[in-house]
Amino acid sequence: MNKNILLGCHVGMGSPNYFLGSVKEAISYGANTFMFYTGAPQNSFRKPINELLIEEGKELLVKAGIDVTKLIVHAPYIINPANKNRPDLYHNSKEFIISELRRTYAFGAKILVLHPGAHVGYGSEEAIQSLAEALDYIFENDGTDVKIAIETMAGKGTEIGISFEEISKIISKSRYKNRLGVCLDTCHINDAGYNVHDVDSVLETFDKVIGLDKLLVCHLNDSKNPVGAHKDRHENIGYGEIGFETISKYVHHPLLINIPKILETPYIDGKAPYKKEIEMLLSNKLIDNWKENF
Ligand code: FE
Ligand code: FE
Ligand code: ZN
Repeated sequence: MNKNILLGCHVGMGSPNYFLGSVKEAISYGANTFMFYTGAPQNSFRKPINELLIEEGKELLVKAGIDVTKLIVHAPYIINPANKNRPDLYHNSKEFIISELRRTYAFGAKILVLHPGAHVGYGSEEAIQSLAEALDYIFENDGTDVKIAIETMAGKGTEIGISFEEISKIISKSRYKNRLGVCLDTCHINDAGYNVHDVDSVLETFDKVIGLDKLLVCHLNDSKNPVGAHKDRHENIGYGEIGFETISKYVHHPLLINIPKILETPYIDGKAPYKKEIEMLLSNKLIDNWKENF
């Protein structure tokens, strides 16, 4: 087992302990990195950052030996920065992402994961152009050095960013390429049609089309659906179509050691599965029927 493997999960951030609570939660799972939303993922209401116990959380991070610059913030998924044809929503999405980048910066984190949005009928070419322009506006105005990691999407509805080629286009159309990277989600690329099991070939293709230096985060999720299903329904590790062996290959792959790998698998009867999943993945040993005995 390689102790330097960066492996963690999604954690909550809510009242009363906010960021300090998030750090405690991650530590309780044996995680050495984690991802959080700065508020509810389905809305854009956000508490002022001075109420989030950021300093207290950072102190605990230092004690636990967790590198704050490897933490990930996830932007809420209701915004759509890729549709210029709804000027009000397009504008609000851009302004919200600017405020998210500033919040991410305030935590000391360096990476904001963003869903690239949907073309809602206008075609992906136009949406890719809209998004690239939105990103340029955002980077011109946010005043931080936080990077945006565009997440690979499953291809449900009219999502864009469903292939490495589309993501590469978004990056190449932006004037701020050095502030853009990618979040590779195993469930999403499986559902988008990639053979997720052949890890070397996935990474080789990624390198050819986008460049491995752009890979900033991995989301490790099993999928409830077969390859190419365009669904995006996450499953616990070992219980889906991807399977434990493949997910574990991502955890232990030499090219991915230093990249934060984040579990976003579903809760089981109201309980977080992450301690168990992290344990099994780090030891590369699947416990049979672990969910039944959870
Ligand atoms: Fe996501
Ligand atoms: Fe994800
Ligand atoms: Zn997903």
